[in-house]
Amino acid sequence: METKPQITVTSPLLPPLDEFHDLLKEIWSSKWITNNGSFHQRLEKALAEYLKVPYVSLFTNGTLPLITALQALRITGEVITTPYSFVATTHSLWWNGIKPVFVDIDPATGNLDPSRIEAAITPKTTAIMPVHVYGKPCDVDAIQAIADKYGLKVIYDAAHAFGVEVNGRSILEAGDMSTLSFHATKVYNTIEGGAMVMHDAKTKQRIDYLKNFGFASETEVVAPGINSKVDEMRSAYGLLNLRQVDAAIDARHRTATAYRQALRDIPGITFFDDMPGVRHNYSYFPIFVDAEKYGMTRDELYFKMRQADVLGRRYFYPLISEFSTYRGLPSAAPENLPNAHRMAQSVICLPMHHALSDRDVERVIRLIVD
Ligand SMILES: *Cc1c(COP(=O)(O)O)cnc(C)c1O
Repeated sequence: METKPQITVTSPLLPPLDEFHDLLKEIWSSKWITNNGSFHQRLEKALAEYLKVPYVSLFTNGTLPLITALQALRITGEVITTPYSFVATTHSLWWNGIKPVFVDIDPATGNLDPSRIEAAITPKTTAIMPVHVYGKPCDVDAIQAIADKYGLKVIYDAAHAFGVEVNGRSILEAGDMSTLSFHATKVYNTIEGGAMVMHDAKTKQRIDYLKNFGFASETEVVAPGINSKVDEMRSAYGLLNLRQVDAAIDARHRTATAYRQALRDIPGITFFDDMPGVRHNYSYFPIFVDAEKYGMTRDELYFKMRQADVLGRRYFYPLISEFSTYRGLPSAAPENLPNAHRMAQSVICLPMHHALSDRDVERVIRLIVD
């Protein structure tokens, strides 16, 4: 019997090898391989243009800009955040000695529910760290209104929100800073990588010092910085990938459309539709399984898919608040987070990447529909 190839949840967008090789030759002859080289500078500029933001600072991954943003803004005490994300969001608080305060999500979006934030604010609260989960924009106006009222900073973990726009404007304009991940599994990747987006030149300067040990000049260290410098190879790779990311997002959009058409009328299966005025990046395609109506639990479907070599992922399950480091926090109590628990119990992210064929998509759909 013919065995079908595995369908993975994601697949890295790789630049054309010969073009990458040409750029590597340039790097080899320049002998400048890291420390703010020319490809690094070109990529920061190209990304700022693509993302429609004034300033971008590259980082070696998507976790260090979170940690560094908290350092730069001198955030202490308590920070309000979501349990429905990748662990790095909360870990960045822990690495700064900050107490995470989990607030429940809005079931309509999966994002931090602004109407629940005020009740979690204490005299120790200094900031809010929301996540644009699956690249779906948070209610940034409502969050900013609360932040302004209480004098709080807002740092967005925008790891999923590469290229996402609302009414033609980048979602990365929101808050004090936003961070991106360019990990291999994301819509746009530099193998490992990430970035911070800020709104003024002074902050960009400060962040550039911080990611280079705090060096402001050869002999001056202005802050206890970290090392998060990006090398020339990954910068060159990133420049090439930026040229094909729009085509990759278009391919993802076609897959999302096919999934929606096929699954719209399946009892017990729900998913998100596009939001009006939003340019989505189709970074993930989560479906939510209602076991009673569907006739199978989420895990039964998940393992049925795995048996057939179709690898979905239960993003985000378990919730961050359920991991041992955090589950003792008062705000981690399940009764405080009912919507997040419901979503974590029912979600499967279907395979979603630029290289899925029509046959692949059909195979995924059949497993859910039949
Ligand atoms: C991927 C991701 C990160 C971490 O990014 P890395 O580049 O893997 O360090 C942080 N937050 C969220 C929500 C992510 O999905």
